[in-house]
Parts: sequence; structure tokens; C-alpha cells
Amino acid sequence: MKRKSGQNPDITKNWKPATLAIRGGTARSEYGETSEALFLTSGYSYDRAEDAAARFAGEQVGMTYSRLQNPTVEMLEQRIALLEGAEACRATATGMAAMTAALLCQLSAGDHVVGAKAAFGSCRWLTDTLLPKFGIETTTIDGSDTAAWEAAIRPNTKVFFFETPANPTMDIVDLAAVCAIAKAHGITSVVDNAFATPALQRPMDFGADVVAYSATKMMDGQGRVLAGAICGTRDWIDNILLPFHRNTGPTLAAFNAWVVLKGLETLDLRIRRQSENALKVAAFLEGRVAKVLYPGLPSHPQHALAMRQMAMAGPIFSLYVGGGRAEAHGLLNGLELVDISNNIGDSRSLMTHPASTTHFGMAEAARLEVGITEDMLRLNVGLEDADDVIADLDQALRSIGR
Ligand SMILES: *Cc1c(COP(=O)(O)O)cnc(C)c1O
Repeated sequence: MKRKSGQNPDITKNWKPATLAIRGGTARSEYGETSEALFLTSGYSYDRAEDAAARFAGEQVGMTYSRLQNPTVEMLEQRIALLEGAEACRATATGMAAMTAALLCQLSAGDHVVGAKAAFGSCRWLTDTLLPKFGIETTTIDGSDTAAWEAAIRPNTKVFFFETPANPTMDIVDLAAVCAIAKAHGITSVVDNAFATPALQRPMDFGADVVAYSATKMMDGQGRVLAGAICGTRDWIDNILLPFHRNTGPTLAAFNAWVVLKGLETLDLRIRRQSENALKVAAFLEGRVAKVLYPGLPSHPQHALAMRQMAMAGPIFSLYVGGGRAEAHGLLNGLELVDISNNIGDSRSLMTHPASTTHFGMAEAARLEVGITEDMLRLNVGLEDADDVIADLDQALRSIGR
């Protein structure tokens, strides 16, 4: 690989996020292609047997097998690390592969994890079901209550695990305060930053140790591929995560890495426009439904905190239609433009009923405890004209008599 530009660290260290999103991590082959090359190869060959031996011994720089290294995947990892302000990043096949690897690589039987109750359904499954199965104790708390984090600490607590904003209740965790509590107790904070992305919020700037992503969401941003990523210090990635990742193999496919590289080029543009659209749509809905939960609205109980740690509030919010499942499903069925879809972070506006889809696997009592009621809906506001989205919601609301 030859690297014609971006190789002078004295210059690249001054690059702003919009520049890094286009150029960060780019490595060119001998053909000098402008766009990143897609290396669809599972293995690598060696000029001499001694080269193979030296590479396996770690004495020669180079790739050996695509479960371990791939040039396209490495470009993505470097780009995400640069955007995050992290020393290193490792890509994964999905967001859940990232969350699972970020937790299991550092935990052993007898350890204790504190997690936020409000979380993506599968993340709750990790804390409620998977970790206890392997003898790892877990406690779930109200993540928006900073004192609850400190109160839940035990002598064997190793990890704090949370997302902010949380899916789908839009709870905000005070990153600086909770990460400081973790640091003071030698606990590793693992933040799922899928909703905000580094374009709107960089948890490491507030003291987070590990930041994990579903890159399926805003990073791809166009609903095409599944992907994930884990960011940390070089030492943590190399010595804690890599032995687990290389040997268990939740590796990202080169093709998907290439798609996400292309997605990152427009992340900043997309997430800012979608955040503007979401604010308009949320403001429209505020007068029309029982309640809207959007951190960008002054009515959100943690609006001030959200705006301290996020540049904008993002494309996603939740609303309570009022009534029950019949009203929520009725609103969804009345939509003409917005799709009924449980995905988020897409350039299309998508709406889902969490209680019967993304959070269906959670016990009903646990759902109600975090506010996932039968009349709750989650909306991902896309890149369409906000007025068209508002008109669609308006006619769907009329269809259920609102
Ligand atoms: C979607 C999502 C995940 C899981 O990511 P996948 O790419 O679907 O595996 C994890 N956390 C949050 C907050 C998510 O929104």
C-alpha cells in the first residue's frame, strides 16, 4: 500500500471531523485509486516461507488472515478512531457483536456489572440473561440518576454499561459525572453511542473508557449493511479486546466496511439535517399527542444536560400517542410516507412500536418500569422534507381521530 496523502501526523492532527470523515485512515494501493479500495480476500500470500513465519511471530508488518486484518476494514477502523478521538478501534460484524465483545473480553465469573435499565432490547438481554449465565453478577439501575451508579458499586464491580440517549426512552446519562465515578473506583465505563455518533457526542471527551457502536445505524445511515465498532486506548484494544476478537471472530466483512466508509463521508451532513428535521417534527407532535420525549425539546426533563454533551439532539425520539396499542398501531397503519420499520439511523423516516417489536423480548414489568408502554412509538426522522413528514403524521393522526 502506498499512502500519498494524510501521512504527516503534524498536519493530520489538525484536521477537523468533516475532513477526517472523508480522508481519515485512507490507504492507497499502487494504483492510486481516489476512493477506498475494497479488498475482498480471506487470506494473504508471502514471497518466502520465512516471511510467513516472521509475520506470525509478529516480527514483520503485514496481514495474515482476514479474521485478523483486512486493508478495507483497517481503513474504517482508523477513520472511526480519528472521528472518536480514540487511540484505536476494532470493527465488528454488528452492533451487538461489538457490545458482546466489549463486555465479555474484560469480564470473568465473579465480576459485577452495573447497567442502565433503559437500553436497546438486546443490550438488556446481555445484562439480564447472558452475563449471569456465566457467573457475572449484574445490577440494572435508572441511568439518568447519577447517584444510583455510585450506590450500585460493589467491591467486584468491573464495568458500567449504558447508552445515552437511551433506546427508546431517550433517557440521558450524565457522561462526565458517571464516567468520573467509574474512574474513581477503577471501573471501566463502556458507552453505547449509537444514537449520537461521534458527529454529535464524543463520550471519551467526558471520560469514557470504551465507546461501542452499532455502525448499522447513522454511520452507514442508508439502511444497507450491519456493522459495529469498539473504540478504546491502544493498550485496551491490543491487550484486552484483540485476544477475544481474533479468536472468537465477530469480524466485519470487507464489503460492509467499505459501505460504512462511504457512509461516514456524509455522516456529519446527514445527522445535522436529520436532527433539524427531528426537532421540527417533534415540535409539531408536541401539541398533538399525549407526550413527546426528545432531548432537543425544552420539555425533555434532561434537555439542559443533553445539550451540554451533544452538539444536536439526533434524528430519533419517542412519543406517547395516548390510549393503548390500538391507537399506536392505528397511527402506524395510517402512515403513507413514513415506513413502519424497527430500524433507526436511516435516511428514511421510520416508525416502530417498541413494546411489540424491539423490546418485545423484555419482560412486561421491565418494559413498564422504563416507560415502554403500549401507546409508545419511536420515530427516526429521515432526510425527507420535514414538512412532508409532518403532513403524513398529521393525516395519520386524523385517521385515528386526533
Ligand atoms: C441497533 C442498536 C444496537 C445493536 O446493533 P446491531 O447493529 O443491530 O447489532 C445496539 N445498541 C443500540 C443503542 C442500538 O440502537
